[in-house]
Amino acid sequence: MEMSTEHYVFHYRKNSLAEKEIDKIAAMQEGCYAFISGCLHADAKGKIHYHLFDTPQEVGKQYAIIHGEDDDEPCNGFALPDIMSKDGMDHVYAVYSETIKCVGFHEDAHIISYSLCRPDSRFISEGLAMFFDRYWWGIDNYSWTRWYIEQGKNPSVADLIDNSKFREYDCELTYPLAGAFTGYLLERFGTEKYVEFYKRCADETARAFEQTFGRSVALFEKDFLGYMKMFALRQDIRELLMKDMDQ
Ligand SMILES: [Zn+2]
Repeated sequence: MEMSTEHYVFHYRKNSLAEKEIDKIAAMQEGCYAFISGCLHADAKGKIHYHLFDTPQEVGKQYAIIHGEDDDEPCNGFALPDIMSKDGMDHVYAVYSETIKCVGFHEDAHIISYSLCRPDSRFISEGLAMFFDRYWWGIDNYSWTRWYIEQGKNPSVADLIDNSKFREYDCELTYPLAGAFTGYLLERFGTEKYVEFYKRCADETARAFEQTFGRSVALFEKDFLGYMKMFALRQDIRELLMKDMDQ
């Protein structure tokens, strides 16, 4: 089945939960789109095709088919931007079930921001998507980061700019940290300056820091850590974080 809105075409199965809640899903995605697009002054090139499935197995299978891979690992959602898709359009594949609702800001932020630039550093692209998400497993990026710093677990931001380092760490560490660091840059320098920086990140991200802000990523990291230490973490949130990381 199919439903079209201003910025999306939703594809979903008959009798699925997605069909039942399609008006709610469409209103939420249009809300996300308006916020991201307004913030970055950017638009996707055409309508975003949103494919909603019942299970991570089905989404994983789509990923494997599209990328020509043999093993179809379960997956909650992924974006297939225009330059990678066969039909030259932007696509998002996502699970929508009672327990997993992989909708919201993240994949749409990737697609809309790719119209400005496709950063070579995953720390930068995931950081922007995570800035819009604000939360990871229901706890905000800043709380995660504050806690990692407290535990001495936070990897170096300057290192994470490098994709090979980014891959070395679990995403529950890298994603909220990238989101918090992006939030710090955006809130400190404003959206316009951040977008100027983002557009320079197609290659040599370290140089983009120097060119845009006149200082190195290492210096920013020092300031960012100092900024993060100004906040106290609530004890009940600390306990939730400990529980999440034990699982
Ligand atoms: Zn992402």
